[in-house]
Amino acid sequence: MKDGVVLTDQKDRIIGINEAATSILLEITGILHETWMGKDIDLFMRDHEDISAHYSQRTEGQFEIECTGMREICYGVSLIATEHRATENKGMLIVFSDHSEKKRYERELLYQATVDDLTGLYNRRHFMQMVQNQTIPDGLGLALLLFDIDDFKLINDTYGHLAGDQALVDFSNKILLVYQDKGIAGRVGGEEFAVCFFAEDKRAALKEAEDFRTTMSGYTIILNEYDSVHLTASIGISFTERREVTFEDLYREADEALYRSKNTGKNRVTLGREPVLREAVKG
Ligand code: GH3
Ligand code: MG
Ligand code: MG
Repeated sequence: MKDGVVLTDQKDRIIGINEAATSILLEITGILHETWMGKDIDLFMRDHEDISAHYSQRTEGQFEIECTGMREICYGVSLIATEHRATENKGMLIVFSDHSEKKRYERELLYQATVDDLTGLYNRRHFMQMVQNQTIPDGLGLALLLFDIDDFKLINDTYGHLAGDQALVDFSNKILLVYQDKGIAGRVGGEEFAVCFFAEDKRAALKEAEDFRTTMSGYTIILNEYDSVHLTASIGISFTERREVTFEDLYREADEALYRSKNTGKNRVTLGREPVLREAVKG
């Protein structure tokens, strides 16, 4: 689509507009004018505070606005100050460019960089970042739960790799069912997943993990048209109330606890030690 161009005067009235801008203003504002000529640009500005602030100061700038209507659209909006000596116009030139395609591409890239393409859960790197960005609220602590499906290799060996993939997808959906509203979930390895949530104390975190294990082992996992299985998982959990504890500190203890769950019979939850700060380890 062509760029939309609007010219305003010192009184914020539209004194020039091309055809593309007429359609764009209709799309953005929903206001149908036979002509926008002579109309106040505030009809557009009033819903866009940041642009309006620049516009009223006559300062130049570049913005992006997104509208979700019939189609997802994004326009780049450039403000260019005009000072016509001849006309003494102290209005502005406003240029609208369609950024929808660029935006869709950016979103797609972001999705690919953050989401595991088999399961739709956050990938390991993004999960880590999300956990690191959490601020523990007063009176609560952060629990990290790592789990590894038990004897998963058997699923692949018995039913084939595709069925194994399907098991991972179904298992992930079950994780989302339980955790999408109360925590963050990610796939951190082949058949290893992680969940992070706030809990009142260690005991509450442990109970949550235990409930989670019981729920997961009760689910039937569909592998294909003919086969379904019950899967269990071994879980390691770590918990901290200290904001200075890093993701690595938490992860190390949960991983060690997971290892103990595996070595003591699988399908169980083990609570790790209080995470030790890396600095303290070094010192
Ligand atoms: P354990 O109870 O000790 O965890 O045994 P396990 O068989 O679950 O663990 P192991 O580490 O021996 O094997 C994990 C298997 O998971 C091996 C690997 O092929 C499989 N796996 C990892 N990623 C994928 C995947 O994306 N799709 C499929 N189908 N299998 C995967
Ligand atoms: Mg594993
Ligand atoms: Mg395993």
